Parts: sequence; C-alpha cells; structure tokens
Amino acid sequence: MDDMQYRLLIIDDNPEDRLLYRRLLKGITGRRFGFVEADTATEGLDFLHGETIDCVLLDYNLPDMDGIELLSELRKDQRFADLPIVFLTGQGNEAIAVNAMKSGATEYLVKSVITQDLLSRAIAYAIDKKANEKALKQKTEELQKSFAELEKANRQIIEQQKAIVEEERLKVLLQMAGATAHELNQPLMVLLGNIQLLEMDQHEPDKMMKYVKKIENAGQRIADIVKKIQTLRHHEVKNYPGEASIVKIDQNITLLSIEDMDDDYNKLKSVLSSFEPSRLLRAKTFGQAFGLIQKEQIDLILLDYQLPSGNGIEFLLEMDVRNIEIPVVVITGQGDEMIASRVIQAGAYDYLPKSKLSAKPLSRIISNALEKFKLKQEVKQAVNKMAKMSVIDELTGLNNRRYLMEALVRETSRAERYHTDLTVCILDLDHFKEINDAHGHPAGDKMLKFIAALLKRTVRRNDIACRYGGEEFAVLFPDTSMDDAIQICERFRAQVENSSISHNHLEISVTVSIGLAKFSPLKKDSMESIINLADQAMYEAKSNGRNRIISKS
Ligand code: GH3
Ligand code: MG
Ligand code: MG
Repeated sequence: MDDMQYRLLIIDDNPEDRLLYRRLLKGITGRRFGFVEADTATEGLDFLHGETIDCVLLDYNLPDMDGIELLSELRKDQRFADLPIVFLTGQGNEAIAVNAMKSGATEYLVKSVITQDLLSRAIAYAIDKKANEKALKQKTEELQKSFAELEKANRQIIEQQKAIVEEERLKVLLQMAGATAHELNQPLMVLLGNIQLLEMDQHEPDKMMKYVKKIENAGQRIADIVKKIQTLRHHEVKNYPGEASIVKIDQNITLLSIEDMDDDYNKLKSVLSSFEPSRLLRAKTFGQAFGLIQKEQIDLILLDYQLPSGNGIEFLLEMDVRNIEIPVVVITGQGDEMIASRVIQAGAYDYLPKSKLSAKPLSRIISNALEKFKLKQEVKQAVNKMAKMSVIDELTGLNNRRYLMEALVRETSRAERYHTDLTVCILDLDHFKEINDAHGHPAGDKMLKFIAALLKRTVRRNDIACRYGGEEFAVLFPDTSMDDAIQICERFRAQVENSSISHNHLEISVTVSIGLAKFSPLKKDSMESIINLADQAMYEAKSNGRNRIISKS
C-alpha cells in the first residue's frame, strides 16, 4: 500500500492525551499523519477554516464548548458535511457516544481503552466511510441526472411524435389542396376546349348539343371537387387529441398482440377489455404473427420487445422486407428508454413500458397510432392521385404523354375545323442505353433533362413539346407546314449533335432521330394514325443511320 499523508486535527485540551495519540499514530504503516493540535473548540474551528483537514479527533470535554455542540455546528456547515470526525469519550459514557453518533460523528472511541490498533482503525474507518459516502452521493446525483435526462429524452420522443402527427396532418391538407388544383385543371380544360368547339360549330345544332353535354359534365366534375374541398375544410380538420381520441377505439378494430408470456398477454387482454368491441388476436412467435397478418385484417400490432424469435427491431425490419403496412406499438420493459427511441427510429408508431400498461395510456397510444397511420395513408393516396392527375413529367418538367393526348384531341379538331396545318414529330435519342450503361443512370437522367430544356428552347411558344416515353419526345406544331416543321426539327437535331453535357469530368453527347408526320383530316381515325405515322418515320430515320429526320404526309 502506498503511504498516504493525512492531515489530522486533534481537538483536545489535555496535552498528554494529544501526545499519546500522536505517538500511537506514528508507528502505523500505510498511512502517514501530519498533526495540527487545538486546545479549544474555537481554536479547532480556526484550523478547520484555515486549512485542509482530512480527519478530526474530537474530545468531548472542551473548555469553551462541549464536543457534541461543536459536532452539531460543524455538520450544519455544508463545507464540513463530509469531514471524517472520530469522537472521544470517557469510560462509562455510552449515552454520550450514542448522542455523538446521532449528532454526526463518523466513529467514536472510549479514551481509556485506546490502543494503536483501535485508534488507527477508527481513523481509517472514518476516512473511508466519508469517502464512500461522498462517492455514493455523487453516484446518486449522477444517476438522478441521467434519469432526468432519460425522462427528458422520453418526453422529447413523445413531443416529436405529436409534432409528426401535426406535420402529417398539415401535409395531407396541403397535398389535398395540390391534388385538387390538378384535379380541377382537367375538367377545366375539357370545359374550355368544348366552349371553343361550340363557338366553331355554331351552325351545327347536333354537335352543339354534344359539346353542351360535355360542358355540363365537366362543370359537374368541378362542382364535385369544390364540394370535396369544402368538406375537407369543414370536417376533416380535427384538433390534436391530447388525451382524447380522434379515432374512437370502440370502433371495431382488430389488434394483434405478439407476446410470448401468458401473464403479460392476459394483463393486456384485461386492459383492452375495457374498450371493446375491439378484437384481440394473439401470436407467440414471428411466424405465427406473419401467418395471422396474411389471414386477417389487422389494424394495429402490439409488439412485445423481447421475444424468443427476436427483438422488436428485427420484427419491424421483417415487416419492411415483407412490405407490410400496419402500425406497430412496442411494449417495452421498464427503464428501456433507449430501446424505445430505437424502435421508434425503426418505424414503430409508439411504445409503452409494461409498467404503464393501463387503460388510459394504452387507449391514447392506440388511437394516436391509428390516427397517424390513417394520415400517412391519406398522404400516400393524395400523392398517388396527384401523380395520376399530373400532366407534367417529373424528370424533365415537360408536358407528359397524358397531356399530349389531350392536346392532340384539341389540335386535330381545330385543324379539321379551320383547315389549318398540323404537324407532329416524334424524337428518339440514339443509342441512349449506351449512355446509361457507360456513365450510369444519373448521367442518363441529366442528359434527358438537358435535351428537354433544349427542346423547349428550340420550339415556338404555340408548339406543344412533351416527353412521350423514356427517351422519346413528341412535339405538336399547330398551324405549321411540313417544311417549317422540318426546319425547326433540323435546327434541333443539329443543336443536339453539337452539344454535350459534363458528367464526372467527362463530356457526353448524343444524337437524335426524328420522324415527322402531317395531319390529314381526310383519313379516318386520323388522330391515332398521325402518331403512328410519325413513329414509323422515326424508325425509318433509325434504320437509315440515325441522327436524321424523315418526314411523311
Ligand atoms: P436506339 O438508338 O435504337 O433508340 O437505341 P436506344 O438505346 O436509345 O434504345 P432502347 O429503347 O434500347 O433504350 C432506351 C433506353 O433508355 C433504355 C432505358 O434504360 C433508358 N431510359 C428510359 N427512360 C429513362 C430515364 O428516365 N432515365 C434514364 N437514365 N434512362 C432511361
Ligand atoms: Mg433510343
Ligand atoms: Mg426508345
């Protein structure tokens, strides 16, 4: 053991006793002592305030104050709370010894029977005890602090989830609004197109009736959408529930509990029985769970974190792999806040410690999870719907094929009506696959965007440029003769040939084959045939060596 130096304060008015203690402590191995001596309590206090003392030997009988009083005073002072104090009493004074311990002495000794061993043990014990107490206090404080942090983290998770619910709700509303804008666009186009046709065919009552009918239908569709927007505003906006439920639990929902322990399952079952008519199914293993998920319509899964088949995170991953979309609430053991945050990250909707498994928190968690799930589904539907309604190609920002077809109806009618020219071209990039193969799909995408931008710049304001398919584009040239269209296309072909994009420090270029066709109103089925004709011309351009224009009329 290393020799350690301790500073010992002896508060005792008897010089012989002080000398005795010093002598006894001199010969001890392992600890070395430096001594400070005080005759009175006042002098002792002076030392304590003036220097660092490791341990005090305190006599009961002092001229200015009794030892117990001094002890009480010292312990009241925060600075001396951890000071090891060995109290010295006379023989037969056990009551005083007990009193001293109650007043904060760390250890006591009876003066008349002091030996070297007893003294050194008492001091060592007092010092160690205080050191341990201090360490324990620190540990407790640390624990409390980390507990507080965990609680905070826990609260944050809950807050975050609330925020997510809010966010999802907002998203749904915004996306619905977006979707309705697109939705409105289509009947509006039909409406305007038919009004135009109506004006053109003023002298043909049969046709006019047809157009009026179409206008009426489009108007009805617009009215329906407007009604939907109003309903959405007035009824679908709900406040965040706090304690209350948005989705009423007593709404015939099917819950699946994945729980291997019978006791825990029965507890859950009895808690859930208070909000019937929900139906509760049970699986003990992953295998059983996935079996039930396939067979039954399950609204929500209550998943025990620890299962023989694996933990909750593994289950969530497996759900992902199998593309199963059912909200999951994980039931965790006590004090598993870290696990809780990890399962949330892995996609669980919420978690509940087993110790908090009672009706109120469980119903709140279930209703929140169901609500959040519903919102997510609505967002997804809204996004899908938007994609379907959209007339814009996402990658290039050009109009898409749907728009091209709508425009073609309008433009062929117009050409027929006014006997104007309508020319259509189909453009296909040459050996485009090689760009993907050599430089990667992102490079291909970049090229498509570039070509689209170039096309948009090259055609005129009234021309309708669209992305027709993967690396195919189409342009409608209203009121344009074949010669003029060829000129525009030739300009575009040359621009494509002479430009390049940079990708990963490499210059990539491409060429384009173009097929042109002229609309001929005399042929039957002319709207489809003009596209076919342009397509044929494009393929001829390919087989004739690519990077060229072929026209047909
Ligand atoms: P050809 O000259 O005969 O037209 O040859 P090609 O390679 O251009 O024709 P092919 O039809 O065989 O290949 C077209 C390629 O375009 C295949 C497909 O991977 C790619 N492609 C289609 N759409 C996209 C897209 O959005 N992005 C990217 N990067 N590539 C696409
Ligand atoms: Mg191609
Ligand atoms: Mg192609």
